[in-house]
Amino acid sequence: MVRNEQRTERNRATDPHFKAGCGGRESPVAVMVRIRQVMARVRQAVSALGPVDPEFAAVLARRWAELPETARTPGQLLGRHAVGCEGTHGVFPQCNLACTPCYHSRDANQVRVDGRHTLGQVRAQMGLLRDQRGPRAHAQLIGGEVTLLSPDDHADALQVMRAHGREPMSMSHGDFDYEYLERLVLGPGGRVRLRRVSFAAHFDSLMFGRRGIPRPPDEASLNPYRHRFAAMFARLRREHGVQYFLAHNMTVTPANLRQVADVVRDCAAMGYGMFSFQPAAFVGDERRWREDYRDVTGDQVWAEIGRGVGAKLDYRVFEHGDVRCNRAAYGFWAGNRWYPVLDGDDPRDLVVREAFFRYFGPVNFTGTPQPLLAARIALITTRHPRIITLAAGWQPAPSAGWGRGSCWPTGCVRSAT
Ligand code: SF4
Repeated sequence: MVRNEQRTERNRATDPHFKAGCGGRESPVAVMVRIRQVMARVRQAVSALGPVDPEFAAVLARRWAELPETARTPGQLLGRHAVGCEGTHGVFPQCNLACTPCYHSRDANQVRVDGRHTLGQVRAQMGLLRDQRGPRAHAQLIGGEVTLLSPDDHADALQVMRAHGREPMSMSHGDFDYEYLERLVLGPGGRVRLRRVSFAAHFDSLMFGRRGIPRPPDEASLNPYRHRFAAMFARLRREHGVQYFLAHNMTVTPANLRQVADVVRDCAAMGYGMFSFQPAAFVGDERRWREDYRDVTGDQVWAEIGRGVGAKLDYRVFEHGDVRCNRAAYGFWAGNRWYPVLDGDDPRDLVVREAFFRYFGPVNFTGTPQPLLAARIALITTRHPRIITLAAGWQPAPSAGWGRGSCWPTGCVRSAT
């Protein structure tokens, strides 16, 4: 008893997540999330008996059937390997920066954004996605600035998303400190509660109010901040073993279009797995519209990304929906050169793409535990030995060089229009 009280006192003194009135135990939300996680694991174990999850395969088929004819292209991922990446909507629109433009309405900072409201809304919206999009998908925890939520509420929201089979990515302006990140991933008693996190950080010179650089003169002046952000996650992994994935987002207008290539070049090795560029549009708070955003087209942005990468980027190899709205290219850097995973001009690579869709299309890679994923891949490969021949014949490019330390994946370079 005395020892319990001592432990409780210790938690109260040292643990920022200590929940008053819970005797130092987990919050009811965390307990419910844990129960859902256990149930999800049981479901996973049952469906693991086959090479694909029948529910996921059925949801994929439905997604494909719902696509317009024009989107049913040879490279289309929707309905063949993915159901799409969706996210929270209008849950916590508050933000402490002032971007020009911002897609939020002029009333955004007046909306209720407390933890209880956020968790209730996230739960309801994730329940809908679970019903409509099936057992597994990526999803964005997006609103205004996610780090204005307390670390506990943020962590609870991520766990609610995972409990609904969504692999979450937190969307942030990146203007927060390492201590916030640490409190996010560590639970009661300093135990790691999030073993993996994904963040998309928004950095561009159209943002005003960032600490240390409230009015950035250009994109290059933000590079130390981009670097600092990525370095926090490297430290997190070093100190707590937490895995991470980082994306870099940037709004593009006529003012910074010609700086896109330099951002890609300068930041390629900082630790971001994806670079994403969004041409601005006349959406949100009209008081923050400063330029004629129609002067920038998706083609121009895509060309600038290609200039930065120093390679032709083929956005038809893999598509996410309609290429008029969303383009992506997947590849990796070897030394200072970028290579596509598959070359759309090489018929042999297109055979590999077809084989991937055919054999691994309905295999869910998102959030599937690695041993289970490995078992599924092994099972499918045993049934279709042709995969081994294709895999052995595939190589990204003869000069790519897989030299140790010279190669790192970049995920995708992407322009969402
Ligand atoms: S960081 Fe995002 S939400 Fe905040 S003002 Fe900028 S665009 Fe709007």
